Amino acid sequence: MQSIKSQTNAKTFAISLPKKMNNRIINRELWANRLRYPNSMIRSGEPNWLYHQLSNTNDTLRVFMFSDKTLNSLYGQSIKDLNKEVNKVAGKGNSNALPTAYLTYKTNFYVKTDTLYDKNVIGYIEGTDLKDEVLIVGGHFDHVGRMPDGVCIGADDNASGTAGVMELARMCAQAQANGFEFRRSVMFVAFAAEESGLNGSMYYVNNPIFPLEKTVMIINMDMIGRSDNKPNKNGYVSTWTIGRGAIKRPAKRLIRKIDRQMDNTTFYLKQDFPENVMWFMGSDHFPFYRKGIPALIVTTGSHDDYHKPTDTPDKINYENMANVLKAMFALITDVASEPDKYPTKVEK
Ligand SMILES: [Zn+2]
Repeated sequence: MQSIKSQTNAKTFAISLPKKMNNRIINRELWANRLRYPNSMIRSGEPNWLYHQLSNTNDTLRVFMFSDKTLNSLYGQSIKDLNKEVNKVAGKGNSNALPTAYLTYKTNFYVKTDTLYDKNVIGYIEGTDLKDEVLIVGGHFDHVGRMPDGVCIGADDNASGTAGVMELARMCAQAQANGFEFRRSVMFVAFAAEESGLNGSMYYVNNPIFPLEKTVMIINMDMIGRSDNKPNKNGYVSTWTIGRGAIKRPAKRLIRKIDRQMDNTTFYLKQDFPENVMWFMGSDHFPFYRKGIPALIVTTGSHDDYHKPTDTPDKINYENMANVLKAMFALITDVASEPDKYPTKVEK
């Protein structure tokens, strides 16, 4: 894409997705590009995505993925015919065929821009002697809206995480009222506009309430309500620590300990870079990670109802969710009250 960019000065790319192409390969490539071009928004989907993406980016390179069907509607002809014409113009075996195609067709790409507003919802518990240091507990509260086959209500993605943020806020407030001392502050954030490109969390890291240097860690809960894809009968949850904070090690140790103590929920502790790149770059911890803040990703993982109207409350494993929250409560109270055990220094 970079070479096409330099040859054509193009700023926006549309990529069609042949059905045959391996989705995992596409995802890895595209999300890797998000790292290379940090301000670019890379998404797959239908035209409503396009609308969202452009309303929120002012970057130099934009890449959009569309299904063949969507590209057909944008260009008024099938991608197959488009390719045939491109080959005719460029000649077979001509290595410049692709840039020519972009030059020829980019003017057909009409884009309407608009600005949409949404709000992050934030509450916090003030610490005592270390109140300037903050631990963030977050989860996005938006979802993907309407799909051709119905409204997506997003019980797991991410009503579960949003409910988790609110419940942990309630538990922590109650603990404080009961006399528990939070030395560090704890902030609870329901992030807006995650699905359209992590917009709520990106806005936060660019307009933080506490200085980012004083932000010790973020716990991001995205889809914590399902545990039906694992062979064993236990509920489960996956946790990943990413970033370079010394705080990660004791956090992992505590989660391991909780795993041994808890009967009905297995805590999978992923060690390093998540094998699934989508998870690494695909949720609200990522803008924090890029600012150097260590993150804990908490999720029960993807499933067949992901981003579909069938992601409904009857499929939620509430007992497992409660166990996940008990564990997170233990971690939050520990990080907030034991600063020496959870140091803020950067890991070498
Ligand atoms: Zn989500």
